[in-house]
Amino acid sequence: MGNEKINPYKMAQAQFDKAADLLGLEPNVRELLRQPLREYQFVIPIRSVDGDVKVFKGFRVQHNDALGPCKGGIRFHPLETIDQIRALSMLMTWKCAVVDIPLGGAMGGVVCDPHTLSTKMQERLCRGWVRQMSKNIGPFTDIPEPDIMTNPQHMLWMLDEYEVLHGGRYPGAVTGKPVTVGGALGRTEATGFGVVYMLREALKKLKLKPKDTVASVQGFGNVAQHVIRLYEQLGGKVICVSCWNHHDRVAYSFRKEDGLEFKTLLSITDDFGEIDKDKARDIGCEVLPEDAWLEQEVDILIPAALEYQIAMNNVESINGRVKIIAEGANTPITDEAEAVINRMGILVIPDFISNSGGVICSYFEQVQSNSNHYWAKDEVFGKLDVKMTAAFINVCELAEKRGINLRDAAHLIGVARVAQACRERGWI
Ligand code: NAD
Repeated sequence: MGNEKINPYKMAQAQFDKAADLLGLEPNVRELLRQPLREYQFVIPIRSVDGDVKVFKGFRVQHNDALGPCKGGIRFHPLETIDQIRALSMLMTWKCAVVDIPLGGAMGGVVCDPHTLSTKMQERLCRGWVRQMSKNIGPFTDIPEPDIMTNPQHMLWMLDEYEVLHGGRYPGAVTGKPVTVGGALGRTEATGFGVVYMLREALKKLKLKPKDTVASVQGFGNVAQHVIRLYEQLGGKVICVSCWNHHDRVAYSFRKEDGLEFKTLLSITDDFGEIDKDKARDIGCEVLPEDAWLEQEVDILIPAALEYQIAMNNVESINGRVKIIAEGANTPITDEAEAVINRMGILVIPDFISNSGGVICSYFEQVQSNSNHYWAKDEVFGKLDVKMTAAFINVCELAEKRGINLRDAAHLIGVARVAQACRERGWI
């Protein structure tokens, strides 16, 4: 696991500065784009069933909405910080722009650990967050969606509170809703499947067939599971998967040389993506330390768990056979480690195109909810594949033309599109 002290906002700004230099952006455009347009920080007082009042800290950061209403997740996490939220809101702006959806970037959160909150308290927290933000979010302003430790039920409580306050039904005000109440079919699979659509295109570029490749994956939650499922359907073989173990408070890597079968692995995994260590041994896995997933002799690495997992302390242990790293998680590689990876000649498919399937499908949900007309699952996956493949090809073409890596090329496209929208609106 990476262990560098990182300020995520400074890292996001440094990446923006690099793109701004390459684009030759004017000073006033830089000033506008390297910080959020609006930030809300507030407290949410919640009365528990026994009458005590607990006060939680909440955030919403709207980085930029020149291309359209803001879109971004809401996280529940005990260690959440305003700088993390700022960084993610900025990433969301470039992500929406580079995959060409008419939305801006936002992110929000509450400092809390939902494991320690009753269902009723979680509901009150969701409703309390919306009461604080209700004038500044909405279907044509800023549309929240789930992120770490928030789920469709949380989103429905938020939508319900918004509708109570605004007096009507506004299904497009929140996405990631349960499918029974306006959620999009395919949203659960979308992020993981999207990573594989991009991986498939990257393999084509390297003239490799999925069936001739082997992969190792960090994480076995929502993103990783659907990555592994589709990659396996394309003929690929996953030999190592790592995940967190809450009893031992460490992560383990589970390895099986002749391949881990997705369905078997899923049958020994809990709802939080934690694989049972003993049952893993029973199905023939070696149980290895946390970072072993990174050291495997494979063609593809897929970090799909947490931020900053590949850092200077472990980057050198990447095996020389690795050709592609497809980022499922947000910012799983530090800037310094990525410089080493670039020197190793590994193709990195950067997070904000690689895992954009989630936000693209959220956009599809918003479109469906606003028109109150819902699409079949195959239609969703077809449209998702078209959008993601187009974005990948665009980014690769620019990378080749300018002699830069895919992350820089994706930043250039995203930043240029947002800057252009700001100019055309007459903001700068
Ligand atoms: P999740 O909570 O469903 O799964 C997380 C997985 O990571 C679990 O299997 C957990 O055991 C594992 N994990 C936690 N700590 C670990 C460690 N130290 N080492 C190895 N494994 C560890 O989360 P998710 O929805 O799959 O999201 C994963 C990442 O992808 C996050 O960074 C998230 O921000 C990003 N992401 C998610 C989506 C989405 O639609 N879910 C979209 C874009 C980006």
